[in-house]
Amino acid sequence: MKERTFKKDSEIEKVIQEKCPRCGRETRQKILASIEEKYIEEDGGYLIYGCDNDYQIIQCQGCENIIFRRTHENSEDMVHYETPWGFEEEYVKTVDLYPDPRNSRPVMRRVGDLPISIERVYRESLKCLNYDARILAGVGIRAIVETVCQDQGAEGKNLKEKIDFMVGQGVLTQDGAGILHSLRNMGNASVHEMQAHSKAQLMLAFDVIDHLLLGVYILPEDVKLNFFKKGQS
Ligand SMILES: [Zn+2]
Repeated sequence: MKERTFKKDSEIEKVIQEKCPRCGRETRQKILASIEEKYIEEDGGYLIYGCDNDYQIIQCQGCENIIFRRTHENSEDMVHYETPWGFEEEYVKTVDLYPDPRNSRPVMRRVGDLPISIERVYRESLKCLNYDARILAGVGIRAIVETVCQDQGAEGKNLKEKIDFMVGQGVLTQDGAGILHSLRNMGNASVHEMQAHSKAQLMLAFDVIDHLLLGVYILPEDVKLNFFKKGQS
């Protein structure tokens, strides 16, 4: 006998602990919708194989971000462990999340206030990083830096000089410039010479990019709004 059943929304409103990609840690998450799938294969009353799959849409109770969660357990995947009362066994539960917070870097604060052209390159580059497309993430970072240099009227014959110009203008720190210099060659090389940077290097570069964009586009607007209101000088 083989039987597959589906139960809808039996776990709705239940609160679980799960990692949130936006908060960057485990938070309380409410189940908004769920499907419980059960599969059983029996022969004359003996279980041959059984599995449980849960498909859930969950929402972080802190930042309200919504993700998809799938869990899987089956009768062939069990762990045995010793307790003072003897051996116990338990099904192994695997959990998949989409988007996966384990390798997702969240977008920078107030990304929607960036110029639209920069926001687009930023989001695409971040997507490349989060999908581990590291060569393209590196090319994207370079494109962001080029665009900011252009916007800021950075002077220089090449990108190296322009990055250094921005240090002089105070929008980039010397350390930040150093990290961008190390990624600068990426876009110069022809496609077959390109090498992927490590995820850690790209994460660091994105830290610099976030600070750069915040310093160039977001904070000056905030300062204008909050310190130099109309009628004040
Ligand atoms: Zn959250």
